[in-house]
Amino acid sequence: MSEKAIIFDIQRASLHDGPGIRTTIFLKGCPLDCLWCHNPEATSPNPQLFFRYDKCTQCGDCVKVCLQNVHKIVDGIHSVDYDKCKLCGSCFGACNYNALKIIGNEMTVDEVMLEVMADVDFYTNSGGGITLSGGEPLAQFSFSVELLKRCREIGVSTCVETSGFVSDEQFKKILPLVDIFLFDYKVTSSKEHKKFTGVPNERILENLDVAYQHGIPIVLRCIIVPGINDTDLHFMGICDLHAKYPNLKGIEILPYHTMGNNKRTSIGVHETLIDLETVPAEIAGKWIQKLKKLGCEKVSLSQ
Ligand code: SF4
Ligand code: SF4
Repeated sequence: MSEKAIIFDIQRASLHDGPGIRTTIFLKGCPLDCLWCHNPEATSPNPQLFFRYDKCTQCGDCVKVCLQNVHKIVDGIHSVDYDKCKLCGSCFGACNYNALKIIGNEMTVDEVMLEVMADVDFYTNSGGGITLSGGEPLAQFSFSVELLKRCREIGVSTCVETSGFVSDEQFKKILPLVDIFLFDYKVTSSKEHKKFTGVPNERILENLDVAYQHGIPIVLRCIIVPGINDTDLHFMGICDLHAKYPNLKGIEILPYHTMGNNKRTSIGVHETLIDLETVPAEIAGKWIQKLKKLGCEKVSLSQ
């Protein structure tokens, strides 16, 4: 029987998740808890209620249909008691303003493959394929293995965007099924890595090394967050990997942006984890210059 996973989005015609035109499959669930996460709706492995405050007209229709009293509108404020939600779906159907939805649907590999197959001609003509993303796609390991195998069988190229935080046994198993990795490199000091993401980075670096020694093309993806990892130590860490792995396909710098904040509110997490603005283009440009001066020729700004 076809493996199942909780998927929170499938983006067709994606141009920024690996080479060519790709279908990106976003899987829910991640073992890391990065302070700056821009996909907070992906952290939990389970489906979740997602409420867009900006779209709500306060018509009150969701209040009428919800038997769990999740929604309340008092003095012009719509509050949502997420813990009480049973994900029955009644309020999503009642809302005419697209302010409510479930994030995360269970899908089988067969169902995902139907979407993948729809764009096979685009992959062929552009050098594209599929990309597994998340969350951490390797956290739903059996599903990812089966999906990658099925793509291999029909000649669709495979890319995996990963934090690298997966057991060495699982990582080695997945290697023969991957054509290219988009591999996160978040924080150089393992102690700081644990502080800001919840896990140390030794296992991640070991898996990066195994993937490189296996000859798989790797694009290193480095989110830079002011006050967290825009440090000389981390920039030197990026340059050290550039020197250690001369065949890296590229090093992309992803400047911090605030898009995750609204999404965090939409799933009921109200505390601000970091109080920062989106990084201005001129600052990001200076980071690139600095890295190039340090000898990191393959560095570029992520699109
Ligand atoms: S039904 Fe939609 S628009 Fe109306 S109050 Fe509920 S969330 Fe807001
Ligand atoms: S999904 Fe069901 S339980 Fe959850 S808020 Fe909507 S109506 Fe209430």
